[in-house]
Amino acid sequence: MINKFFVVNKQKLGFVFTLLLLVLMMLPTQAQYRQLNAKLDPEGTLLPSSVSSSSNTSSLQEKTIEWLSSAEVQADAPVKQKMKKTVYLTFDDGPSKLTGKVLDILQDSNIKATFFVLGEHVTRYPELISRLHEEGHAIGNHTYNHNYDELYKGFSPFWNQIKQTEAEIQRVIGVRTSLVRAPGGTAGHFDNTYFSLMKQAGYQVIDWNIDSGDSRGRNVPAGDIIRQATENISNDQVVVLMHDGGGHEETIKALPAIISKYRAQGYNFDILTPEQESVQFKVTQSAKSLKRVQPSQAWIATHIVPNAGIFTQSKDLILQVGRMETKLQSSEYRVVEGKIMVPVRLTMERLGGRVTWDQEHKLAAIDMNSVSLQIDMATGKWITMRTDKQEQINNISVTMRGGTMWAPLRELLQSTGHSTQSIHMNEQERRIKTY
Ligand SMILES: [Zn+2]
Repeated sequence: MINKFFVVNKQKLGFVFTLLLLVLMMLPTQAQYRQLNAKLDPEGTLLPSSVSSSSNTSSLQEKTIEWLSSAEVQADAPVKQKMKKTVYLTFDDGPSKLTGKVLDILQDSNIKATFFVLGEHVTRYPELISRLHEEGHAIGNHTYNHNYDELYKGFSPFWNQIKQTEAEIQRVIGVRTSLVRAPGGTAGHFDNTYFSLMKQAGYQVIDWNIDSGDSRGRNVPAGDIIRQATENISNDQVVVLMHDGGGHEETIKALPAIISKYRAQGYNFDILTPEQESVQFKVTQSAKSLKRVQPSQAWIATHIVPNAGIFTQSKDLILQVGRMETKLQSSEYRVVEGKIMVPVRLTMERLGGRVTWDQEHKLAAIDMNSVSLQIDMATGKWITMRTDKQEQINNISVTMRGGTMWAPLRELLQSTGHSTQSIHMNEQERRIKTY
């Protein structure tokens, strides 16, 4: 009976088998596609957001295909990046004599962190502020003197210390920071007034979700710090509290192990930025019940309201290159020691260039008109190739910030064949013209 069934249905079975085989052959294609997408989402992306912001549909498709084939970047990478496991290492109370050691360790590990600095220490160690800024770390404001009695007796003394520290940082590196961490954290300290006025004034107040415990007592041993900073991590977005103020030698000892443990768990390292969603504690009952003098409406109108403009009304950068004109908003470029630094992919693509990134060799290739420029991230070597000649310039500072390559604008334009440049500035904009 069974034999008969097989004989009779042999043809049908053969057909079903062929169908199954076909389905199975198609499945790996889907899997490969997914795998490709996963591969296309590494740290090496050079600001992929420019794809969606600057392209029309057809060129977007072209670029997507081109990037897919070069196994490099994909159009929806920013969305995926948000989902990535990321750890934000933060160091409070510095800079101090120990900060240089922290920076050395971070440099060796090729990662960036965020430093919430005290104004009085900025005054004492300006060279350390310059160094951590130059090396691409983020700087946040941790008030001037960390004195709880003064800071938490009312909003206006807290405010005064924020402004004092901000001015001190700006004096040293020429940039203001809107990132703020409250000494001791906001819990028990910030009431609704503190939270809402800081937000209204344009600041991003950030607490943490993992406390390394390195300031819970004197000389907490490195082993304890490692354990508390890395065990039982359940978040994909981790903000770790550590300290680089005086007396935190054990934190320095613990740092390499903390880094490698997060690496082993598949975390990327990044700096905090004002744009991302902040980790914040809730207002506690004890903070609510504090009887503080509330700032008057007149005080708010003169201090808080105009302050938000500081972070939003900086100058735009207009680039007129050949027949192309494009604008970088104030948040899209930086001025570091008089040099205009721009994100390479965003800028060059808006000017009609084509940028590809070779993650393995850390090489960026820019094609613009008939010129090719190759930037070697590791050696700082720039090679310009035209049809008939090749030029090489050495040691141009290029930095990676949160997966984005930044380079000096002047050199970028020169190396892609736009040597004559002029710069004009007015209240609203900087305008750079090439001939
Ligand atoms: Zn602190």
